[in-house]
Amino acid sequence: MDKSNRKQDALNYHSKGRPGKIQVIPTKPTNSQRDLTMAYSPGVAEPCLRIAENVDDVYKYTAKGNLVAVISNGTAVLGLGNIGPEASKPVMEGKGLLFKIYADIDVFDLELNAKSVDEFVTIVKALEPTFGGINLEDISAPTCFEIERRLKAEMKIPVMHDDQHGTAIISGAALLNACEIQGKKLDKIKMVINGAGAAAVSCSKIYLSLGVKKENLVMFDINGLITPNRTDLDEMRLQFATERKGIDTLADAMKDADVFIGLSAGNVVTPDMLRAMAKNPIVFAMANPEPEIAYDLAITSRKDIIIATGRSDFPNQVNNVLGFPYIFRGALDVRASAINEEMKLAAVYAIAGIAKKPVPEAVNLAYNAKNLKFGREYIIPKPMDQRLITEVSSAVAKAAIASGVARKVITDWDAYTEELRS
Ligand code: NAP
Ligand code: MG
Repeated sequence: MDKSNRKQDALNYHSKGRPGKIQVIPTKPTNSQRDLTMAYSPGVAEPCLRIAENVDDVYKYTAKGNLVAVISNGTAVLGLGNIGPEASKPVMEGKGLLFKIYADIDVFDLELNAKSVDEFVTIVKALEPTFGGINLEDISAPTCFEIERRLKAEMKIPVMHDDQHGTAIISGAALLNACEIQGKKLDKIKMVINGAGAAAVSCSKIYLSLGVKKENLVMFDINGLITPNRTDLDEMRLQFATERKGIDTLADAMKDADVFIGLSAGNVVTPDMLRAMAKNPIVFAMANPEPEIAYDLAITSRKDIIIATGRSDFPNQVNNVLGFPYIFRGALDVRASAINEEMKLAAVYAIAGIAKKPVPEAVNLAYNAKNLKFGREYIIPKPMDQRLITEVSSAVAKAAIASGVARKVITDWDAYTEELRS
């Protein structure tokens, strides 16, 4: 299919029938007058009074506990940039659709006319009574860091900026497995990170939690290497400044590096840079839609490479959908007050673990593959893998309980797993 057809298809997909991708559907019988008197006045007064007496009963009598807000101000939408809240709505509806089909979580997508941190935080905080969790989406750096920090501190429901942490979690799982296959130790690898935005900062933080040493990591933004002498950088980036000497360019840094992490822009890495890397290199070229180096070019440059990208048309897609539906599922199911580091790391290990187990036939079929097997071209699970919901959600729920943020405890894990499967 040619490009203009694809574009028209996408427009038709969104406009055909009822415009957009989502709707609200009642969950209770509405067939009789009696049903309606219960759904609304006068019957509805009973749950109202119960909740007024005990505010936690809102989880018992309303949809709050399964409802996530996907919230954006449209300032950093996909790779499209600052296109505004209305133009971000198709993305947020799409995210809602993914939450629903992968984890049966209901979503209200909210596109806000709010650019400043204060404005954004005030609005989202006021939404706490409605939602079980908040997924922040496509908000530009550095505002996104402060918005998330404040909302996490000031709200008692889980808040996660998926562009930061989703990417960190999935690529963290991919890194664990790639290192295992390539015979590298996390505390020994030399890592180059190109890009110093929302995704790069959060990925780097999780890699450090997974065992990468800060002194083995160098980071670049569009102006070059991040060093302590630079005066144009905020604290968020300066924490990754390197003291190492003799690095002027990305090409210098790539020499003998074990791992390259690209969260920057397309086609900024050359075959020569890859050839200068250490034996068995790991390259995560995650810029969208064009990776830092094209997949085919990378694999022809180095036979011993493991490469992952953000694209679905090549092996090893770093796709946030492997994480956010199940992270929120687990968090909601134990009524967690936060999504903390312990829960994120639990998700990393659970996702990494799935890729190492034999692949169910249904997954091979869904991807038209014959024999997916843990190895260079399969370092993370596929989105359609049914084991994600059981294993990742349970791991996240358990970590929430163990780290003391759960307000509801699950004791029968077999029954919970069964429930997730159905
Ligand atoms: P962002 O906050 O805008 O950050 C982009 C960063 O890249 C900035 O630090 C920018 O430098 C830097 N940069 C741009 N061009 C560069 C170049 N030629 N050399 C070195 N650094 C360069 O964006 P983000 O949300 O972090 O996302 C970054 C990229 O990763 C995007 O392409 C995005 O689509 C992709 N991404 C992929 C996934 C995935 O695969 N699952 C997930 C998240 C993000 P300055 O700060 O100096 O401008
Ligand atoms: Mg996003």
